Amino acid sequence: MMKIMDEVKGAKSIAVSGHVRPDGDCVGSVMGLYLYLKKEMPEAQVDAYLEKPAEIFGCIDHIEEIKSEVNTEQVYDVFIALDTAADRLGNAEPVYRRANKKINIDHHVSNRGCGDVSIVEPQRSSTAELLYDLMDPEKIDVQIAKAIYIGIIHDTGVLRYSNTSPRTLQIAAELVKFGFNFSEIIEETFFERTYLQTQIMGRAILESVRFMNDRCIVSMVSRRMMEFYRVTPKDLDGIVNHLQSVKGVDCSIFMYETGTLEYKVSMRSNGRVDVSAVALKFGGGGHVRAAGCTMNGTYHDNINNLSIEIAEQFKNE
Ligand code: AMP
Ligand code: MN
Ligand code: MN
Repeated sequence: MMKIMDEVKGAKSIAVSGHVRPDGDCVGSVMGLYLYLKKEMPEAQVDAYLEKPAEIFGCIDHIEEIKSEVNTEQVYDVFIALDTAADRLGNAEPVYRRANKKINIDHHVSNRGCGDVSIVEPQRSSTAELLYDLMDPEKIDVQIAKAIYIGIIHDTGVLRYSNTSPRTLQIAAELVKFGFNFSEIIEETFFERTYLQTQIMGRAILESVRFMNDRCIVSMVSRRMMEFYRVTPKDLDGIVNHLQSVKGVDCSIFMYETGTLEYKVSMRSNGRVDVSAVALKFGGGGHVRAAGCTMNGTYHDNINNLSIEIAEQFKNE
């Protein structure tokens, strides 16, 4: 297996970035690799670009060093895109495309690889897990370990989704040996919610509707609701997972309004529906059991359009 240090050897400037609306895997991977490269290449300029991460990730050391403004002038020797293809890098995308060497490390089935070097392994639970195996374990310290651990637990629902493999658990075991307070990290970054986050989740669950013989469930949060509860999209993470926990549900859909007739859609499934294939039809992507896309149209039009694709899959059962 290749090692990340062999690929960045000699580089004087390196950038690391991940997808828009960064989740735990994205933030953990970017910070884990950023800290690793800074330590291993003290002479080089190393930059991490990302949309401002949610406050819960404040426990990751040096997270304040993440740059949200991109230096559009700079041509990096190496640019590493994590947990996504180039199209979801946001304002870092043009800088990525211009870099002398592009490296893409990801675990999304929908990603065909977009680098001069692409390591896309869909069987991996998380980009963070894959990253661990590209590092030299001797060179990992407690700060790097913590960042990678956060990436793994967020994409595996704390090591419980089916993407968790024996290797995932081995790596998690190696990481907790560093002695950070993993139980506090799980509680504070994964389970804890503010009162308002809890209320809007309750509302979304209360207003959810089942369809297709109760095999699907859907709910939506409008901009007005977000204003009423004084929450932002970051506060809506996790709602779709609760919908998916409903007994008998094979596929769940959650959307929130991002603009006029524009919705960010999140989907989850128990494996009976390939939600990545559904999301791909609407320009998104992801994994078989977790995927997303952005859709234009009314809420009900979007449900209808998604239903057609889901029904197509039920037909093939
Ligand atoms: P979400 O529900 O938006 O958190 O996304 C679930 C999974 O699908 C995550 O692994 C995302 O990275 C991925 N995903 C979400 N939206 C997109 C998109 N537009 N294109 C590709 N992958 C996506
Ligand atoms: Mn992600
Ligand atoms: Mn991921």
